[in-house]
Amino acid sequence: MKPVGPIPPGFAVLDGELAIGGRKASELVAEAGTTPLFVYSRAMLDSRVAELRAALPARIGVNYAVKANPHPAVIAYMAGLVDGFDIASAGELALCREAGIDPARISFAGPGKSDAELEAAIAAGVTLNCESEGEGARALAIGARIGRAPRIAVRVNPSFVMTGSGMKMGGGAKQFGVDAERVPALARELIAGGAEWRGLHIFTGSQTLSADAIIEAQANVLKLAAELADAIGAPLPKLNMGGGLGIPYFPGDTPVDLARIGAALTERTRDLPPVLSQTELCMELGRYLVGEAGVYLARVIDRKESHGVTFLVTDGGLHHQLAASGNFGTVVRRNYPSAIATRYGAEPTEEVNIVGCLCTPLDRLADNAFMPRADVGDLVAVFCAGAYGATASPSAFLGHGPAAEMLV
Ligand SMILES: *Cc1c(COP(=O)(O)O)cnc(C)c1O
Repeated sequence: MKPVGPIPPGFAVLDGELAIGGRKASELVAEAGTTPLFVYSRAMLDSRVAELRAALPARIGVNYAVKANPHPAVIAYMAGLVDGFDIASAGELALCREAGIDPARISFAGPGKSDAELEAAIAAGVTLNCESEGEGARALAIGARIGRAPRIAVRVNPSFVMTGSGMKMGGGAKQFGVDAERVPALARELIAGGAEWRGLHIFTGSQTLSADAIIEAQANVLKLAAELADAIGAPLPKLNMGGGLGIPYFPGDTPVDLARIGAALTERTRDLPPVLSQTELCMELGRYLVGEAGVYLARVIDRKESHGVTFLVTDGGLHHQLAASGNFGTVVRRNYPSAIATRYGAEPTEEVNIVGCLCTPLDRLADNAFMPRADVGDLVAVFCAGAYGATASPSAFLGHGPAAEMLV
């Protein structure tokens, strides 16, 4: 038997079924008219943002990193909960605009912004998080051509990394940001070139469950930002301090200690150096805001035995849940939190392999999991599906098409 990851708090049992936002899984599937289905819960988005606001000093803004979940209804709902939006493409810009989000609340990072993307962002008044000297020069030229001063922050590649981070995005040679020692010269050139100076973006890592690592990274970020502001010789209107807060996916993972992070940040922001005293501060979070609010529901299509092993074959799979299958940056495959949604809360009685419908042995949702008995027609739930699911999986692979999505 192999354990499954911890099911996030906030889900209930209703008539022997998993309930999301107070509604039974089978009822949600009936409303969507199809499986597989991603369900995202407004109540869980609300509570996550509320917890964050309660823990962080009021001075720290909360930005949503759209790439975690760009479902239009999710973006529109987040517009009422967070302060800013971080995007990484013109496609995400269009989604934010369609949701009616003021471009002044949007910043655009990403190492390969095309001229067309830069122009769309500059014309709209979005802040560019500039990733290189070359990109800065292109932005100034495009701004001059269309008669708009580009709003520009510089993304810094710091010399430190967040320890214990699942995905390192700073430190050493990186395709992201500008090496810290070259930032002051670039910032001065951009300001002299007519850009509207917006400050710095320092992102140090992702999916960290260690409060100590986040506290240390934030201290380093504030220190570096102050040094760079001094060297630039201009105050920072804004500092995007990055995020990095992770969520528990696997057995043994524990939630990040938000209270400690908030307390440390309160302490630290009380005595900021003068050069940062007027700076608007924000954190940018994707997975932490939306990951636990999503559940992926797939239907059992077949139940079969092979050499004494029971397989529950579903109509879902890695084409919607690449990360849960263990093929998105994992070394050892472990089970995501999962359950039989239509037997939720029932006693587990058997060990099963829950697999997807693709013709590849990589398509596994849970290995050797101890579950209540499920038959053809039952629904399987994979939790922590609100981030990097639907759009971070190869939905064109094998032609089954994308899953339905629903905000409840
Ligand atoms: C991906 C990304 C994020 C979001 O990361 P999460 O782990 O989902 O919080 C934030 N900022 C930048 C620059 C990113 O590339």
